[in-house]
Amino acid sequence: MFPSAFDYIAAASIDEAIAAKAEGGDETRFLAGGQSLLPMMKIRLAAPAQLVDINRIAGLDGLERSNGHLRIGALVRHADLAASDLPSGAVASAAPWIADPLVRNLGTVCGSVAHCDPEGDWNSVLLAVGADVVARGPSGTRTIPIESFIDGMFTNALADDELVTEVQIRVPDGPSGGTYLKLERKVGDYASVAAATHIELGTDGSISRAGVALTSVYPQNLKVPTAEAVLVGEQPTDELYAEAAEAAAAAAEPRSDVRGTADWKRQVVRTYVRRGLAQAVDQATRSNGSR
Ligand SMILES: Cc1cc2nc3c(=O)[nH]c(=O)nc-3n(C[C@H](O)[C@H](O)[C@H](O)COP(=O)(O)OP(=O)(O)OC[C@H]3O[C@@H](n4cnc5c(N)ncnc54)[C@H](O)[C@@H]3O)c2cc1C
Repeated sequence: MFPSAFDYIAAASIDEAIAAKAEGGDETRFLAGGQSLLPMMKIRLAAPAQLVDINRIAGLDGLERSNGHLRIGALVRHADLAASDLPSGAVASAAPWIADPLVRNLGTVCGSVAHCDPEGDWNSVLLAVGADVVARGPSGTRTIPIESFIDGMFTNALADDELVTEVQIRVPDGPSGGTYLKLERKVGDYASVAAATHIELGTDGSISRAGVALTSVYPQNLKVPTAEAVLVGEQPTDELYAEAAEAAAAAAEPRSDVRGTADWKRQVVRTYVRRGLAQAVDQATRSNGSR
């Protein structure tokens, strides 16, 4: 199928993009990699009257570490992140698992974050590691914690005229590790189930900070504070990982579908969280604060 007719603007600057979006309201969409928006337009799930293409805006493709954060600009593609040695932990672990090489070459991390697909991978990773979304609108810039940014299935906290300019991921200063374990039916598929884990260790070897988040087992990417609370302040052990995994499985609300039954998905959550935590702690122990 073909999309319905739309107007197209190639914005040359952030201000121009925001002004066009403000004028067009919710009938206008930003176009980044087009890897979610264009398929939706082709099957008429989305029919925007106007697209504001942000791909020609200079300065949005920055990927750097500064001020204790990994900063990912709005035009950083999944493939850029996968090829970079700047990410660590769950972020580095997830990057090669997003879709397939074609999609990774065009799709952007920030587009994925803005899209808020509950089957998308990045928002689970960001919920586990701790991140902020930087949004710019006509009245300035604001920073939105990822927990507040995700508003539900395919909805976010952006105003109609706000553009995500970058995502900032906190880089821990002590020993840390993380994983993204994703089960997919075939290469390039969305997750049947995936689990992001993040661990930071204190000087006595206990867990000082923990992040656990799940993909495709809830109506949105799901952070699991009950699992995190099991871990924080404790010495890492296999029994502790199993207890946290049980909390994650209890929080999940998977649905039976073509990818598997709800019971099976819950069991995958249990296994992936336990396994992911063990790997994250192992990484943290080896990292000795170097990442
Ligand atoms: C075959 C296929 C397989 C896929 N598999 C996976 C997968 O396994 N895991 C996964 O996570 N994703 C998957 N995706 C989705 C892919 O990762 C997309 O790239 C991503 O979801 C959206 O990024 P984009 O840059 O393409 O955004 P676009 O498609 O351009 O935009 C998506 C939405 O976000 C908005 N938007 C984009 N950028 C911004 C911004 N800077 N500020 C505000 N709003 C913005 C757009 O207006 C639109 O509403 C798959 C896609 C395809 C086609």
